[in-house]
Amino acid sequence: MDGLELVKLFHADPSLIYEYVIETYELIRKVEDSIKSYITLKPLDEVLKECKIVSDKIKDGFKGRLAGLLIAVKDVISTKGLLTTCGSKMLSNYIPPYDATVIERVSAEGGIIIGKTNMDEFAMGSTTENSAFFITRNPWDLSRVPGGSSGGSATAVSAYEATISLGSDTGGSVRLPASYTGTVGVKPTYGLVSRYGLISYGTSLEQVGPIVRDVSDAALILSVLSGHDPRDSTSLKVEAVDYTTFLKPIPLKKYRVAIIKECINEGVDSSVLSSFNKSIYRLENEGFEVSEVSIPIIRYALPTYYIIAMAEASSNLSRYDGIRYGYHVDVENKLWDEAYTESRSYGFGLEVKKRILLGTFVLSAGYYDQYYLKASKVRKLLYDEFSRILSHYDVVITPTAPSLPPRIGEAISDPMKLYLSDIYTATVNLIGLPAMSIPADIVNDLPVGIQLIGPRLSEGSLINIAYIHEVKSGLKNLIPTAVRPYV
Ligand code: GLN
Repeated sequence: MDGLELVKLFHADPSLIYEYVIETYELIRKVEDSIKSYITLKPLDEVLKECKIVSDKIKDGFKGRLAGLLIAVKDVISTKGLLTTCGSKMLSNYIPPYDATVIERVSAEGGIIIGKTNMDEFAMGSTTENSAFFITRNPWDLSRVPGGSSGGSATAVSAYEATISLGSDTGGSVRLPASYTGTVGVKPTYGLVSRYGLISYGTSLEQVGPIVRDVSDAALILSVLSGHDPRDSTSLKVEAVDYTTFLKPIPLKKYRVAIIKECINEGVDSSVLSSFNKSIYRLENEGFEVSEVSIPIIRYALPTYYIIAMAEASSNLSRYDGIRYGYHVDVENKLWDEAYTESRSYGFGLEVKKRILLGTFVLSAGYYDQYYLKASKVRKLLYDEFSRILSHYDVVITPTAPSLPPRIGEAISDPMKLYLSDIYTATVNLIGLPAMSIPADIVNDLPVGIQLIGPRLSEGSLINIAYIHEVKSGLKNLIPTAVRPYV
């Protein structure tokens, strides 16, 4: 049963919420040791108290859209009174004094925060191996990574340890782990979902996005998360939309699909390519008009992304000096720069340090024009190119990732391979467009995802297309190998 159906059940009989929570904790007890989705899991009795509050409210007529659903939250999103580490030693004892807007919205609809999920440190990575605490494993194959950086959020949902999860997507961190775990992940239009309370990595690139087990739940949670927030200066002034109205098994208009030639070339695994083609046939059979387009400049998207992301990271992370924010060292008899150095040397991991250094370099006098300014120009060209394509087409479809989930240790030892996993996802972050990853196939018991990209604020159409694909493929609420013995 998905979240949308569960909520209907809970509205009719709120006592079922307790049963659901207890069953979920039972499953967590069985699988969590081998998967390790959570950095912080709320104790069962605390969650049961929250269930009581929600179920009492339902008895008084409350019709919360997420009433009784268990929401897992990436540890980069601020939760009042609940440890929020960003996967870093720097924030290993940070308890935020306030909730992010997305947390307020979820709670106002009766969603129950169950815990905080593991991630690559400060959301820098694609495998969840860069967490300062431990790695998270893919529930489809425990010897493989779940993708990242929102790996814990993806595995919590994929392994039925939560109903819905929230991640953040700066260059693919929601869509890549969704693709690797057989779930649905959405990167909303920039500004559609509030970033207030999201700890910043690449401010101009990122959005909070949900990871769920089917398209209906994507529509449900997106309806709750989206809408204007005066506390986020980049928030769009748009009315909230009920995306569940787009859950129709027939096309709501005649969709024209573009496939980017450069995204289905020799760099893609043959199994990913054949899964991709299967998905395209499914849509063609539903009357979608499919054409191939060429966007040669797309080959510059990934380096452009990494220059801009690192530049923004170096600036955003400068606040962690151990005095204003972050891991505090004993400052007695130390000069300020010694105290800063000690705190930052201890608090940050290798990947984060590398990015701060590179980011500072590309912004420094003498190099700014060569790197940051040039990247900003390419960003504008990419924007123009996609605007042109999307004035003729409703959706662009690409594989979400060029390969199947790598084995643990494989990508992390080869930074080029690590960065290449974002090759199809990072473009939309540069230009603010919405995109989602949906399951396209299962190959040798491993999931493969495809990515749908639309014009600004086209989330409704993307949901409609994803839903049609889901109905035709039957790929929803998938049960990964590690969970099968228990359901
Ligand atoms: N893997 C990409 C990076 O490391 C994307 C991360 C993200 O989206 N947060 O920057």
